[in-house]
Amino acid sequence: MATIAESPMTFTRLAHPAPVPVETRDQLLADPGFGKLFSDHMVTIDWSEEAGWHNAQVGPLAPLPLHPAAAVLHYAQEIFEGLKAYRLADGAMALFRPGANAARFNASARRLAMPELPEALFVEACRQMVAVDGGWFPSVDGGSLYLRPFMIATEAFLGVRPAKSYKFIVIASPAGNYFKSGAPAVSIWVSHYSRAAPGGTGAAKCGGNYAASLVPQAEAMEHGHDQVVFLDAEQHRWIEELGGMNLYFAFADGTLLTPPLSGTILPGITRDSLLTLAREEGLTVREERYSIDQWREDAASGRLVETFACGTAAVVTPVGRVTDPVKGEFVIGSGGPGQLTQKLRARLVAIQRGEAPDPHGWVMRLD
Ligand SMILES: *Cc1c(COP(=O)(O)O)cnc(C)c1O
Repeated sequence: MATIAESPMTFTRLAHPAPVPVETRDQLLADPGFGKLFSDHMVTIDWSEEAGWHNAQVGPLAPLPLHPAAAVLHYAQEIFEGLKAYRLADGAMALFRPGANAARFNASARRLAMPELPEALFVEACRQMVAVDGGWFPSVDGGSLYLRPFMIATEAFLGVRPAKSYKFIVIASPAGNYFKSGAPAVSIWVSHYSRAAPGGTGAAKCGGNYAASLVPQAEAMEHGHDQVVFLDAEQHRWIEELGGMNLYFAFADGTLLTPPLSGTILPGITRDSLLTLAREEGLTVREERYSIDQWREDAASGRLVETFACGTAAVVTPVGRVTDPVKGEFVIGSGGPGQLTQKLRARLVAIQRGEAPDPHGWVMRLD
C-alpha cells in the first residue's frame, strides 16, 4: 500500500457559491461519458520566480483570467497528466501509482523548461480534489473520477524564452466505464505523419504533441478507423505508439513485446505496470523495436496472436485490424479481443479496484 507523504503546503479552501444541486448531479452521473462533465471544484497553485510554489487553493471550478499575451497561448508551454480515482471494493477511494504521474509530470516540466512541482504536492493536490468532489464519483459500474493535473505558463510576454510565472491546476471529470461489456477490438490506421522525432518532445506529456496528432487522427477516422498508429520519424518503419496509448504484441511462443522507451514514445504508466504483470504471468517480455512489415508478416503467419493498446483511460484495448494506406489491410488473430489481452486487463483492473493483492504498493488509499 502506498502512503501519502506529509502535505508540504496548506491549501486554502474557498467557498463555492453555487455547487451543482445533488439531484442534477446524480442525473448527470447516471451516464457520464468521458471528458464532458466536470466536478464543482478545482485546485490551483501558483509559481513565480520570487515566491516559487505558493497560493495553494481549493476553489470553485471557474474560467481562468488569463492575459492575452500569456505564454501558453503563443508558445504552448503546457504539460498535463491523466489519472483516475477508483472506488475500492470496500468503498474507499484510491489513486493508482500517483507518484509515477508526479515523476512523469516533472520529466515533462524539465523538457518544456517549466518549474518542477514537489511530488508530494502533486499527490496532495490530487487528494484534495477527490476529498472535495468525491460526490462526483459516478454510480455506474466501472466508473471512475478522472483527474487532469496540468500546468500553464501565465506570464504576459511575447519574447521567446521560458515564462517567469506558471499555474498548476487539477480538475476532475467523472468517467463511465469505457467499455461496458469487455473491450471491443479497435481498428487502426498507419499514419504517414510523424508524432515525434528524436530529440523532440515525444516523451513529454505536452499539449503540443496532441495538437500535431489531430490531423492524422482525423484522417484515420475518415478512412473508417478508430485510431492512428505512428511509426518512427527517421525510417518510417518501427512501430511507436498510438496517439495516446502504448502498444503490446503477443506471440504464439509466449513472448510479449513492446517498443522500447527510445525518447520518442510516451512512457505510459499502464505500459510499465503491464511489463511487471506480464512477467509475473510467466511471459517472456521484451522491450524491442518491431517493424510494420514484420507485424504484417507475423499476423499472416500466425506467429503473432494478439496486439493491444494500453493507457489510463481505456486500460487495455485489443487491436483487431490494421490498415496501411499503401500495403493494405491485415487482421490480427481472430480480429477480436484475445485471451492474453483480456487476462492482463482483468489482472490490472482487479489490483486497481482493490480486488486482488497489491504486492508492488501501487494503490494509494485515500480515506
Ligand atoms: C498518456 C499517454 C499514454 C499512456 O500513458 P498512461 O500513463 O498509461 O495513461 C500513451 N501515449 C501518449 C502519447 C500519452 O499521452
